[in-house]
Amino acid sequence: MRIALIGSGTSAIGFIERIYKKSNVDNIKIDVFEQGEDPFTRKPVGKGSIYGFGGAGTFSDGKLSISPDIGGEIAKYLGIEVYQKYVEDALKLWTLDGKIEDRVEKSAQLDDPRISKIADRFFQNNLSVILSEFVHIGTDNLQKVIKELYKKYIEDSSKRFSFHFKKAVVDLEKSNGKIVLVFDNGEHSEPYDKVVIATGRGGSKFVDSLLKKWNISFTGTKVDLGVRYEVSHRVTKEITDVLYEFKVKFLSRSDDEVRTFCVNPQGFVSKEIGNDFITVNGHSYVNKKSENTNFAILVTHSFTKPFDDPTTYGLSVIKLANKLAGDKGIIIQRYKDFVIGRRSTDSRISKSYIIPTLDATPGDLNLVLPRRTATAIEEFIEALNNVIPGINNPGNFLYGVEAKFYSLKPNFDKPFKLPDTEVYVVGDASGYTRGIMQATMSGMYVADEIIN
Ligand SMILES: Cc1cc2nc3c(=O)[nH]c(=O)nc-3n(C[C@H](O)[C@H](O)[C@H](O)COP(=O)(O)OP(=O)(O)OC[C@H]3O[C@@H](n4cnc5c(N)ncnc54)[C@H](O)[C@@H]3O)c2cc1C
Repeated sequence: MRIALIGSGTSAIGFIERIYKKSNVDNIKIDVFEQGEDPFTRKPVGKGSIYGFGGAGTFSDGKLSISPDIGGEIAKYLGIEVYQKYVEDALKLWTLDGKIEDRVEKSAQLDDPRISKIADRFFQNNLSVILSEFVHIGTDNLQKVIKELYKKYIEDSSKRFSFHFKKAVVDLEKSNGKIVLVFDNGEHSEPYDKVVIATGRGGSKFVDSLLKKWNISFTGTKVDLGVRYEVSHRVTKEITDVLYEFKVKFLSRSDDEVRTFCVNPQGFVSKEIGNDFITVNGHSYVNKKSENTNFAILVTHSFTKPFDDPTTYGLSVIKLANKLAGDKGIIIQRYKDFVIGRRSTDSRISKSYIIPTLDATPGDLNLVLPRRTATAIEEFIEALNNVIPGINNPGNFLYGVEAKFYSLKPNFDKPFKLPDTEVYVVGDASGYTRGIMQATMSGMYVADEIIN
């Protein structure tokens, strides 16, 4: 059986690993087409920061959530038993079967009484908290894991996997019960029996156009917009030492959902460079620490008729921030200036008690974020301060804009399978995952379906 796998990110690696582990499936040949580069050539700049073997998470801090409530909806979609069947395998994959177990950081276990006490405090202050155990691999370890996995697959003695880098797929064509891939240079592939699309959120345009072309219905009309927030690590230490990451949700006065995302204790704020825009992000290392903790504060923006293009809405806000920020692309503002509604300047930034970890342009995010978004962020920071004193310190920093886009969710006929085709969509491109663990699990699940 000939399978084309499009993309070589997290979900694709889950798929490949499953086939690799089954020594009795020699009749399967897999061609992997990836628009980026292999992990030894790939650099964390420009498109290389999210494209290439390892995918979007390659240069992340590799925070692996064990909870079914974080990073996707696999448990809701396939059932908790299926989730539990795959979660251990996904964790083993990313820790190289336990080989790097002694080099990772771990949150406390959920039955730790300190966790319950912290959760009580959040709930008493009108904040909902999602508890999860985390394994933090660290940006440094993750690079090594991804290179090691790639080496293992290309050295596989059965030669089942062929990797084709710098090959962007732009379309699929049905041909006599098989599927042909069309590349960006106009070339066509040989026909495949099955195709697995694992193109992540970065490949959403390709999947969207396929759904429209094949008349496949879908759901999904939201985008999350907000800022990356940076405080002294001493402010969050009591909580992050126990939970590592605090996943907190809040409803603003206008009923908008606000949440924390991607907490990086003693981490670094970073830029994420897209095709024609720059957003802000954050990461942390196991072996290199800053004096600050950063996390995203995101407000969900949902749209109803007649507007159905949240991606364009989000990009417009991001590009406005990029324009105002000049060459650096990202605006930094002290919390005090954000609340007053005045521009931060170099001199105001330098008066803060903490030192920013990203070189960004001092400015005013009130000129960029819609009023509802800016107000919701301020309300959230004030509410969080009741649980984590110091979160509303005047000298804390906001960086903008941070955004999270959601892929459309196709209406599949079987899990992850597009109706009336032999085409599967896994990982973030499916709309059902949003993190390394669940993306990996969806790839493993589809591999099992195909093998069986
Ligand atoms: C900066 C950053 C930090 C993150 N940190 C974490 C974290 O700590 N923990 C966590 O759980 N999650 C994290 N995530 C999210 C996580 O990386 C993703 O959820 C996960 O990688 C999704 O896997 P995927 O396989 O669906 O897509 P990806 O990993 O994005 O892989 C998709 C691959 O497909 C390729 N591709 C796309 N379109 C095409 C095409 N048309 N033709 C050929 N190839 C194509 C891309 O180049 C890419 O390599 C982070 C994401 C980012 C951007």
